[in-house]
Amino acid sequence: MPLRALLYRRPTEPSAIEVMFDQAIYLVRLRRHRQARRYTLRIQAATREVVLTMPPRGSVREAREFAEKHGGWIAARLDRLPEAAPFASGTVVPIRGLAHRIVHRRGIRGTVWTELDSYGNRLLCVAGEVPHLDRRVRDHLKREAKRDLEAAAGRYAEKIGVTYKRVSIRDQSSRWGSCSTTGVLSFSWRLILAPRFVLDYLAAHEVAHLVEMNHSSRFWRLLIRMCPDTHRAKNWLDVHGTDLHRYGLKPLEAPMPRRRRTTH
Ligand SMILES: [Zn+2]
Repeated sequence: MPLRALLYRRPTEPSAIEVMFDQAIYLVRLRRHRQARRYTLRIQAATREVVLTMPPRGSVREAREFAEKHGGWIAARLDRLPEAAPFASGTVVPIRGLAHRIVHRRGIRGTVWTELDSYGNRLLCVAGEVPHLDRRVRDHLKREAKRDLEAAAGRYAEKIGVTYKRVSIRDQSSRWGSCSTTGVLSFSWRLILAPRFVLDYLAAHEVAHLVEMNHSSRFWRLLIRMCPDTHRAKNWLDVHGTDLHRYGLKPLEAPMPRRRRTTH
């Protein structure tokens, strides 16, 4: 939760309320905002959180009334989100754009590896106990993301003769990548789910910022020279980017079990 949200919430106030609509219960996060003039609801697509912004003088009772009045809106908006794909046995997860089915291999040593089954389907095999499956898959994907992004960033940096400090992998939902003034290139691990040309484009984009710390026409000219797939990758992210956020959503973050089935 952002610090600002904490500052404006009164200490005795709950951070979230439960709202019932059509026999389903929805968790609604409360957030006080100094500049808010009225109550507003929004859905954060990446985390599936329902957030209710309250004006400074608003009350939890009024917030609840507002949320209950808009229960139908909450239900409809959550329904429209793509179905959550938690890291569990049977879930199909794209890796470098290729579908892999998660298979739990109990009792086998090792952690996570890929293999082909006899039909040529790609499998992501995970050893160990079920409660650790989510973390193992997540750690594996982060490691793979780091490896690919380090290789791609290194290639592009050499191409244009710049150096950077390091590549950092983050679990951020707001952006795919960023470049700090100190030369740290940060990326979302979810880029490993996208086809290679998309991850490559993001690496080139952040490396290009080492030369042009802006989005000027000079920046885009440099980037297109470095990465001719720029437009194709940007289009891919516009169309499919949001979908990448449904992978690895934990059941707690997705209120699915407490409401009726979501169709996609
Ligand atoms: Zn940028």
